[in-house]
Amino acid sequence: VIRVRGLTKRYGTRTVLDRVDLEVAAGDVTCIIGPSGSGKSTLLRSIAFLETYDEGDALVFGKLMGWRETPLGRELAGERELAEARAPLGMVFQHFHLWPHLSVLDNVTLALRLVGRMGRREAETAGLAMLEKVGLASHARHRPEQLSGGQKQRVAIARALAAKPRVMLFDEPTSALDPELVGEVLGVMKTLAAEGMTMLIVTHEMGFAAHAASRVVFMDGGRIVEEGPPKPLFAEPSSPRLAQFLQTWR
Ligand code: ATP
Ligand code: MG
Repeated sequence: VIRVRGLTKRYGTRTVLDRVDLEVAAGDVTCIIGPSGSGKSTLLRSIAFLETYDEGDALVFGKLMGWRETPLGRELAGERELAEARAPLGMVFQHFHLWPHLSVLDNVTLALRLVGRMGRREAETAGLAMLEKVGLASHARHRPEQLSGGQKQRVAIARALAAKPRVMLFDEPTSALDPELVGEVLGVMKTLAAEGMTMLIVTHEMGFAAHAASRVVFMDGGRIVEEGPPKPLFAEPSSPRLAQFLQTWR
């Protein structure tokens, strides 16, 4: 589904991603963990080509993301090509980026109507179904400001799902939330996982990673230091750096 090959990114002389290889198969729930500054967000954003990088690349469903191969080498893909390559990806970030002046339902359906060129009725049916899924159908006519942080994030998830993604990317979806609101968002994510959605999730929620992930990837210093199924990885980390990182969460 996703194949990252030798991805390298530098800021000046600092290497923030160092030859990262990563594969995500259909149905995988992969959690990326690691200390602040280890490159987790940069990796996720690079996969979606929200930022460019220096070496390597990422394939999404076999399509090269962000680049076009030419006889003379790679060049940046055009807007339309990029949008096409991105289409299978749904993205949810720490901050929800809802439109404050639109209703919850309009937030979910806007892209369907503008980008997907769906009619109002069809888009609203699809949007309501997604709000139902995140438990917020009854809030369709509310404005974002009337919602709690957890509810806003569930709307952001519904909005991403409405575009019928085949993979969902999450970057710390719960770290801007008050502790008592984290559970409802993780609950929605667990449901998605149980339904077989392929997910790549950057998270500091070790409990979630331990229980919901099929695989955990530990990053440090721009590299993948260790990866594997959560049980052995948490119980018996083979690298001292992971052991030390996990200490701080116990
Ligand atoms: P966190 O857990 O805090 O979100 P992260 O693992 O997501 O951390 P990244 O945001 O990917 O880390 O950042 C990786 C490194 O790249 C950091 O050291 C950061 O300082 C650096 N970095 C990110 N953006 C820039 C930039 N625009 N210019 C220079 N350095 C940057
Ligand atoms: Mg980050």
